[in-house]
Amino acid sequence: MLLRARTVVPMSGPPLEDGAVVVRADGRIAAVGLFEEMRRDWPGEPVLDLGEQALLPGLINAHCHLDYTTLRNAINPQRSFTAWITRINALKRQMTDDDYLAAIAEGFDELRAWGTTTVCNLEAFPELLPKLPPPPIRTWWFLELIDIRNRVPSEALLEGALSFFEQHDGWLGGFGLNPHAPYTASPELFRLCRECAERFGMPLTTHIAESAEEEAMFRRGEGEMFTFLQGLGRRMDDCGKRSSFANAVADGLIGPGWLLAHANELDDADFALLAATPGDWHVVHCPRSHAFFQHRAFPWHRLEEAGVTISLGTDSLASNDSLSLFAELQAAQKSIPELTSETLVRTVTTHPARALRKSGELGALLPGAHADLIALPFAGAPPEVYDAIIANRSPIEWMMLDGKILSPPHSSLRPPSAGVRRS
Ligand SMILES: [Zn+2]
Repeated sequence: MLLRARTVVPMSGPPLEDGAVVVRADGRIAAVGLFEEMRRDWPGEPVLDLGEQALLPGLINAHCHLDYTTLRNAINPQRSFTAWITRINALKRQMTDDDYLAAIAEGFDELRAWGTTTVCNLEAFPELLPKLPPPPIRTWWFLELIDIRNRVPSEALLEGALSFFEQHDGWLGGFGLNPHAPYTASPELFRLCRECAERFGMPLTTHIAESAEEEAMFRRGEGEMFTFLQGLGRRMDDCGKRSSFANAVADGLIGPGWLLAHANELDDADFALLAATPGDWHVVHCPRSHAFFQHRAFPWHRLEEAGVTISLGTDSLASNDSLSLFAELQAAQKSIPELTSETLVRTVTTHPARALRKSGELGALLPGAHADLIALPFAGAPPEVYDAIIANRSPIEWMMLDGKILSPPHSSLRPPSAGVRRS
């Protein structure tokens, strides 16, 4: 099939006016170029003319918790991060397996409506996986692991999950591991995850340096989170020394190649450590969740200067009010206006693709890539297209996943906000 649009945005090269994408029957892209050339080179291919639209790669959400989709507006901003954790834990205890399955399905609908074709979903309830239908978009299921109370790494649980993964290699996407955070997962659990991920070629993600309370706990052995976790029986002998980031790097828990969520609280010493540890570092920023928690300014420029690749995520609806990556782009642009629109669009396309080690397959339109595409109305000149993508405030009306045209779900969508939610 030959898809024609007013502007094609390959991300692997400049935008093309009157462009076209040739999609093969196996769901991959055969060619990208000017419409006239593509029509000449691919005679006989049926043409679908999308008209006055920008055609671009489907968006990639690098950090999401679909389990909590039904908790939208359920938690007001709290006095502290620890208070929020206590509140979400109380809400989670009231939810049944069916509630979570419904939340995941609702989340997928919302992701699709906002043009997301790939999601990194941190799954807190691996026991739900056998009850799930195949995901409607490309999904990396990161198994969330926590062992505060039980210090013994749960090898049996990992083995069970891995055998499930092996039986479901037909699902679009893949599987990864998520030792939740250094404050909830032991060094032993981090190392076990690392070993498994290396053996099975899986990506890894964790939460790091998210809140000031986490840093008070690790750096100084004090604060609300310290007291809360000590009360749960966590061994606190890794506290009172270094930052959460320095601790985790020095102890070999995290490193280049991980999708590190948040990294809000890095200090000069952390940036020096980053510079002294070469590799492919990735950070996921969740602009609206960041605003919800009123964390300190996200160190975008310093991370970029250190060579870190930044991707965007939505986090969960327990600290956000929609799963729209367009709204995240708008929020990032608002808080850091000097970022170029093209750079921002990369944080939801080529950057997360690289973090998933899928450069050339996802997040860009080029021969051999998966045909995951979206279109949105656009009638301007090619250089304006990145601005128009970021400014989009409407659900996507045309989407292709793995070479198949998907009709977008017509769920009742709430308008997303681009700023701090106050309720
Ligand atoms: Zn998270």
